[in-house]
Amino acid sequence: MPEAPASKSAALQDAAAESKPLKSTLNLPQTAFPMKANLPVNEPARLAHWQQEDLYAQIRAARAGGPRYILHDGPPYANGAIHLGHALNKTLKDFVVKTRTMAGYDAPYVPGWDCHGLPIEIKVDEQLGRKKLEMDPVQVRRACREYAQKYLDLQRSQFIRMGIFGRWSTPYSTMDAEYEARIAETFYHFFENGFVYKGLKPVSWCIHDRTALAEAEVEYATHTSPSVYVRYKLTSDPAQIDPALAGKGDVYTIIWTTTPWTLPASLAVAFHPELEYVALNTASGIYIVAQALLSPVITHCRLMSAANSEEPATQSDILALFPGTRLDRVTFQHPFLDRSILGTNADYVTADTGTGAVHTAPAHGVDDFATGKRYNLPEVQYVDDSGRHMHTERFGGGEPQPYEGLTVFKSNPVIIELLKQRGALLGEAKLEHSYPHCWRCHNPVITRATEQWFIDMETPLTAPDGAKTTFRQRALDEITRVTWDPAWGQERITNMVATRPDWCISRQRIWGVPIAVFLCRKCGEPLQSPLINRQIVELFMRESADAWYIHTPEQLLPAGTKCAACGHSEFRKEMDILDVWFESGASSHAVLDFDKDTQQAPGDPDPRADLYAEGGDQHRGWFMSSLLCGIGMHNRAPFKEVATYGWTLDEQGRALSKSLGNFIDPVQVMDQLGGDIVRLWVASVDFREDVVASLPLLKRLAEEIYRKLRNTLRFLLGSLRELDPATGEQHAFDPRLIDEGGDAVPFEQMQPIDQYILVRAAELTAKITKAYDGMEFHRVYHLLNEFCNSELSAFYLDVLKDRLYTYPVKFKPGNAPAAGMSEQKHLYIARRSAQTAIYKITDALARLTAPILSFTADEVWQSIPGKQGSVHLQLFPKPEDLAPAHAASLIPEWEKLLVLRAEVLAKLEGLRAEKVIGKALEAIVDIPVASATEDSVVVKYEDTLPELFNVSEVELVTGSGPSALAVERSKAAKCDRCWRHVPDVGHNTLYPTVCARCSQALDAIDFPPYSATTPTEN
Ligand SMILES: [Zn+2]
Ligand SMILES: [Zn+2]
Ligand SMILES: [Zn+2]
Repeated sequence: MPEAPASKSAALQDAAAESKPLKSTLNLPQTAFPMKANLPVNEPARLAHWQQEDLYAQIRAARAGGPRYILHDGPPYANGAIHLGHALNKTLKDFVVKTRTMAGYDAPYVPGWDCHGLPIEIKVDEQLGRKKLEMDPVQVRRACREYAQKYLDLQRSQFIRMGIFGRWSTPYSTMDAEYEARIAETFYHFFENGFVYKGLKPVSWCIHDRTALAEAEVEYATHTSPSVYVRYKLTSDPAQIDPALAGKGDVYTIIWTTTPWTLPASLAVAFHPELEYVALNTASGIYIVAQALLSPVITHCRLMSAANSEEPATQSDILALFPGTRLDRVTFQHPFLDRSILGTNADYVTADTGTGAVHTAPAHGVDDFATGKRYNLPEVQYVDDSGRHMHTERFGGGEPQPYEGLTVFKSNPVIIELLKQRGALLGEAKLEHSYPHCWRCHNPVITRATEQWFIDMETPLTAPDGAKTTFRQRALDEITRVTWDPAWGQERITNMVATRPDWCISRQRIWGVPIAVFLCRKCGEPLQSPLINRQIVELFMRESADAWYIHTPEQLLPAGTKCAACGHSEFRKEMDILDVWFESGASSHAVLDFDKDTQQAPGDPDPRADLYAEGGDQHRGWFMSSLLCGIGMHNRAPFKEVATYGWTLDEQGRALSKSLGNFIDPVQVMDQLGGDIVRLWVASVDFREDVVASLPLLKRLAEEIYRKLRNTLRFLLGSLRELDPATGEQHAFDPRLIDEGGDAVPFEQMQPIDQYILVRAAELTAKITKAYDGMEFHRVYHLLNEFCNSELSAFYLDVLKDRLYTYPVKFKPGNAPAAGMSEQKHLYIARRSAQTAIYKITDALARLTAPILSFTADEVWQSIPGKQGSVHLQLFPKPEDLAPAHAASLIPEWEKLLVLRAEVLAKLEGLRAEKVIGKALEAIVDIPVASATEDSVVVKYEDTLPELFNVSEVELVTGSGPSALAVERSKAAKCDRCWRHVPDVGHNTLYPTVCARCSQALDAIDFPPYSATTPTEN
């Protein structure tokens, strides 16, 4: 950073008595903008002020009538304090909303919260303990509501502290009565239009939480399972399979499974119809397995040759070879239950692992379930909600079995022991593999057929163009109409939609919105009545969804309601609740369709939200459920663009967690370093990738990057005010033009270097507003730092100090010659020229940084002379506010000048190293030119060169002078005020120790004349 040249001067200290007054005539920066930001204290004060003035309402009023830009907030889950991921999420959204607002859009931000669901219910369960047993569902729901509200309030205060602007007083929340009613309305829309069915279906099931899990709620982790080979004895005639087997006893097939607990539910064995199978003659019987897997099966099951029981079986023991079709509808004996097992054919059987004979338990596998349907196997459940084996007697099990009453994972060894006892176990090992786990409780999940509500992905639909299609295909088509940022999101969600099963929307819990359907007590059919459905929606509006738990069907249904299927008149309520993803997915209806702040303009032919922006894990979460709900309600996606950000990791690429000790609490960072530091961090990362955060990194941002920016801004602000040394009064730069009584100099009359920096600032403005438009915040961050450090601090402000500090702050009209401008006025205007550039740059920087450094930019704005109100009410600057477009033609000239400058600075450094000079001002520079009239930038900018090089004099040498650039020590005397070494020091006898220019400055303020008694440094 520039600093005042007088501060470390030995010469001035030596001559204290005489030169102190001279020093006092220098126009050093004047500002109340403190170097120390003290953000932890000042930011809350500014927030309070914003709230008092209702800045958000002011912004909304200022943009009313402008084009709308709707960022629809994805609701965070209200069950804890915020973490750095939340900070990243909300800050990115705030960047978008603020940049669109400053680009002229009417860009509201209505924050939301996701308040229902299992994690809160589990927490409340833990808090209530045994008390819960005595509470009715409404009381439990009330406790859940209080819990969610507590964290909603906490998170809200933390987001506000971060400087996020939005409608915080009235956010949306999924537990609002109206929102709950809209969820029910969305469900009814699906229900009445034939998307919804109830059916037994294998779903991922958490036996710990006793609930079905959506796809998005399952995560994979390593799990060790038993791996067993089990033989099933053939009970049908072996001759039907192959004549070579006629009359043979002891024929078996071998199945392989890693879930022995599913064997009590085994109803069939599946063979691939086109795979080749062998009948292998061994010492312990004849075994039917896939030919391709024969050799590993012989090893794992230790099958000995029938011919020589000391040796493993070989190819020569094969009795017969036949395709899998021959095994269709043969029968086997269950290994320990009194049950006949059916041979079936299925395409999903592979010859990769196992035996080519697949044990089939329709209750515990998606493929198995499909096979069961094709072969009309009984649809039965053998395992209860908590994962315990039920008594199998009614399925032909006879005697009670030793595993009954055990949970499935505990039953594995018992069942293996049972297999051993029955002589059915041929091989046993352990297998470590990737296995699905519950994302809530992290326990392994099972597949279990249960009665659930589903949305059918193949529901017939009509596309907007009239074509017949399906729900799934409509979703796939709509994906192509959305902009995905980064672009890989499109392929990701396309694959997910293409392959996803039907949407299981029911959960067996309390804290949510019920699937508010009445079921006939006699035949179980759901009551289909749009009229009654409307009444339930209105009831929820009035009383919240708690109403479902309070009123009886008799109270809710009109008298005389009858079942359309059987005519019965008694009903029960469905007590399952909706998947929370359905609830948040319904936000496009609950919020975007009704909230006046987030509706697109009336009559908009494409009334979708402009942007959804969340973490990259939401493709299968909120983006998916929003897409499906949007199509269900309105036959279109609810968004035009979807942006995703990466994970927040530490410098070693590990997730941030309390247990690793690398956890970062954004609230603590704000308390210690400031909200703007968190915001600056968000701007510094490319959010499209995984982003890195650590406390040292944040501290470095605060102590290096932020501090440098702040000091540059402080210097700019200081240069816009000066003290009149004659009167001691402060004058603030008046941005009106000089001709209109102000201080600003028109661009054409500005000093070349000031024109140049404004052209660069205009370029910066164009680049930053473009980067903001593309949500490239990290580019903005780099552009800002680069400009402030390289262009301003290291160059422009450095060379400008001489002019700002030493040129006259006023001029005497009387001194002007009759024609043209006096030297004094000329110098005065040159100084105002610099201030004009600084004023425009400071104004532009305050606006350009406002979306990121929301607190600091507002502080800067209010320190700029003449500015009132908040920077957040302003629009972005336009490049032409800084410099006219044609001025860009100056850039090539300046590129040449800056090359020359680098050359000069290198030579000066050489002289300094040789101790020929101390400061650059002790040097003069000779530049050879062919002729003084030649058309070169050096000639054109001759008057600017001393300032550009920060030297006392520059001579353009023509004719016989040196042929190369040269620097040498000046022989001229040193001016005691500006320290330049120039020939005109002492020319004005009133001010004998200063140069002609400084004399003008002293004369302008009527500085008292003095005599030359002070010894000079030379
Ligand atoms: Zn669980
Ligand atoms: Zn009925
Ligand atoms: Zn001087």
